[in-house]
Amino acid sequence: MSVRVVARIRPLLKAETQADTIVTSASSPSDKKDSRTIVRIPNPKNEFEAYSFQFNNVYGQEATQAQIFDDEVAPTVKHLFKGFDVTLFAYGVTGTGKTHTMRGGKSLADRGVIPRMLSSIYRRARKIEKDSSSETQVAVSMSYYEIYNDRVYDLFEPPEKRTLAGLPIRDNNGKTVVCGLTEKPCTTLKEFEQLYDQANLNRSTSATKLNAHSSRSHAVLCVKVSQTTDDETRVSTASAIDLAGSEDNRRTDNNKERLVESASINKSLFVLAQCVEAISKKQARIPYRESKMTRILSLGQNNGLTVMILNLAPVRSYHLDTLSSLNFANRTKKIEVNEIENLPIFRELEGKKGDTKTSATAIPSMN
Ligand code: ADP
Ligand code: MG
Repeated sequence: MSVRVVARIRPLLKAETQADTIVTSASSPSDKKDSRTIVRIPNPKNEFEAYSFQFNNVYGQEATQAQIFDDEVAPTVKHLFKGFDVTLFAYGVTGTGKTHTMRGGKSLADRGVIPRMLSSIYRRARKIEKDSSSETQVAVSMSYYEIYNDRVYDLFEPPEKRTLAGLPIRDNNGKTVVCGLTEKPCTTLKEFEQLYDQANLNRSTSATKLNAHSSRSHAVLCVKVSQTTDDETRVSTASAIDLAGSEDNRRTDNNKERLVESASINKSLFVLAQCVEAISKKQARIPYRESKMTRILSLGQNNGLTVMILNLAPVRSYHLDTLSSLNFANRTKKIEVNEIENLPIFRELEGKKGDTKTSATAIPSMN
């Protein structure tokens, strides 16, 4: 069981300028050549100080969709075919690139990690079916649902057929299942893409109907891979979750509906953080039962791999939310504070040790 937490800083959007950039990537002295593991951001209360957060990997503004997939997701497909579950999360404030990272755009170069992963799964499936002396057959099927206010809605159901209460979940021989969830077989990438696009349309329509924006629900795609030989069937699941925006709506909007949404989003993201922390510390007890999402995913229960991509915007308007995102994802590690002279031009961390005060500190609460 393992977890990787990586950060991705999105490029500037049209309305944003270089001068507003405050979040940067850097390499640590122990990093390999051309790799970076540090995100740097100024202390909002003292701009002469910068916080450094360390991750398993950090991708800067220039990182391509192909690079994220090749480095972080492609290696997990091999494990999937060995029978392990794979879970990918995109975490971050609304507008930081979660959907771009997961789903991406229409052009080949813009495709996100989900279509790329499916393409890789089908390629490997065809290869196994062709090579195998044991006559293995590979079947792929998908389900896709969203969790909004702790209720589960099937994204294959047209919004008008949904009930407000959503689908019930039940425990079945120690496994948690969503009752009545549609599972669609998809034998080719083309078929997958048609189903995925159709379900994504349902996502935006239903969001409008419920008077909620899709950024306030978690979208959970599960791809089941079944490998059948004469004497056994091996099933493993890849799940890709485009999480609800992690921004604290209480700060900007205190209408009652928003408060209910925020409470359920905060709770589920909080439990997710605890699970990720427990997995990375190899603790025996993972509190996955404490929220609906982690419970349905059985997070950390099946010797699987988890990758969390922390999406970040580089600019000042996200400052406090970016800091809470970094704190969230970095519960397990030491955070360093460096005093710096000129912002936003950071000096390189290397060679800097002797002349800066470095201390471990907790980031002040942003609430
Ligand atoms: P989120 O899903 O986190 O709310 P989006 O994925 O919708 O954020 O991204 C917000 C905006 O930023 C979109 O217009 C998106 O196209 C753009 N964007 C995000 N990441 C990138 C990137 N790596 N390269 C180019 N544009 C990006
Ligand atoms: Mg989105």
